[in-house]
Amino acid sequence: MQHSSIVGGSTAKRVISCPGSVALVKKMPPQPSSVYADKGTMLHEAISEILSDKSIIVGQYKYKDITLTEELYAEKIAIALDALDEIDPHGDLVYEVETRVGFGDLLPGVFGSTDLVGRIGDRALVLDWKFGDGVVVEAEENAQLMFYAAAAMRTEALKWAFDGATEIECVIVQPPVTRRWVTTPERIATFERELVRAVKIASQEDAPLAQGEHCRWCAAKPICPQMTGAVDRAIKQQIVNLDIDTLAQHLHTADLLEDWIKDLRALAFGLLEQGATVPGYKLVQKQARRQWVDEGKAAQWLIAQKINPTKVAEVISPAQAEKELKKSKVALPDDLVVAVSSGTTLAPVDDPRPAVQSFIGLSKALSKL
Ligand code: SF4
Repeated sequence: MQHSSIVGGSTAKRVISCPGSVALVKKMPPQPSSVYADKGTMLHEAISEILSDKSIIVGQYKYKDITLTEELYAEKIAIALDALDEIDPHGDLVYEVETRVGFGDLLPGVFGSTDLVGRIGDRALVLDWKFGDGVVVEAEENAQLMFYAAAAMRTEALKWAFDGATEIECVIVQPPVTRRWVTTPERIATFERELVRAVKIASQEDAPLAQGEHCRWCAAKPICPQMTGAVDRAIKQQIVNLDIDTLAQHLHTADLLEDWIKDLRALAFGLLEQGATVPGYKLVQKQARRQWVDEGKAAQWLIAQKINPTKVAEVISPAQAEKELKKSKVALPDDLVVAVSSGTTLAPVDDPRPAVQSFIGLSKALSKL
C-alpha cells in the first residue's frame, strides 16, 4: 500500500501534534516490513476480498509467507464480520472497501486508504480494522478515522456516503472488541482545519517539534533533538537527588526513551545489514548452539558408547551427550557436531567475536568479481 510522505491516516495525530516530525521522518531510511505488518496486510486484504464478494480459500489464501489459517480466520476475520453484522443488523449498509481518498487541491500529496466507508440512513460510517493484538485503539477523537472521514468527503468515489448525512460514525473493529464513536460533519470540518494548519506549518523550515504519546510510532525518534536532548538530560541527572515529582516525570520520559533506544538499535542493525558502516559497531553471529549433523548416525554412535541417545523420543543434544560421555572419558567426535548461529546481532567493535560480512554487502562484493 502506498503512503503519503506528508501525512496519512496513521500519521495524522503525530503531524498535528508535532509538525516538525514530517521533515525529520523524511530523513530516515524506509522501514523494513515485519511479520506482524505482513499478517495485518494479509488479514486486511482477505476481509476486503470477502466484503467484495470474492471467494477466498481458508488455508490457501496468502500474503507473502503468511497464510490465512483456520485459527486466524476464527480469531480475526469471523469476529470482524460478526462486528459488522452488529453494526448493520438489517443489512441496510451500502459500502465501499479499500478506497484511496485524498484532499485534492486543498492538500496536494496528502492521501490515505480507507478500509470501509458506508452509509446507513442519515449516518455515514468510517470503519478501520485493527488486527494487531498489542495496543488498544480507541474510536473517540481518533485522528486516523477523522482523517479518513475528511478525505472521503472530498473524494468523488465516496462523496455519496456523506451527502446529507447528519452524523458520522467512526468505528474501530479490533477483534474481539468493537469501539464506536458518533460525531458530526462539523467536528470533521474542524479536524480538517487543524490538519491543513499542521501541514502548512510542517512545510516551513523551522516547524516545531513536540514530544508526547504520538512519538511512540514516529520513525524519526533516533535522530529527533527532543529525544536526544532528553537522553543528555537523563545522563546528567543524578538519580539519587531526584524529588518524587521529577522522578514521576522522568518515568514517563523513560518510556519514550526506551522506544527511542529500541528504534536506535533497529536503525543501526538495519544499516549494518545493508552493508553500511556504523563507527564502533559491527554485526556478529549470535551465540551458536551445537546440533547433530545427522541425528541417526549420532544415535548409533551413542548406543555403541552405551548411552541412551533419546530423550522422550528426541536425540539428546551434543551438550547432554558430552555430559554423559564424560563418565566414560570419551570425547565427542568433531564430525558429528556443527555449530549453527540463530542469526546476527549488534555488538561493540571490541567484542571478541569476529565481524560478519552482511549478506547484502557480500552479494555486492561478489557481483564485482
Ligand atoms: S520523536 Fe516525537 S518529538 Fe521527535 S519528531 Fe517524532 S513525534 Fe516529534
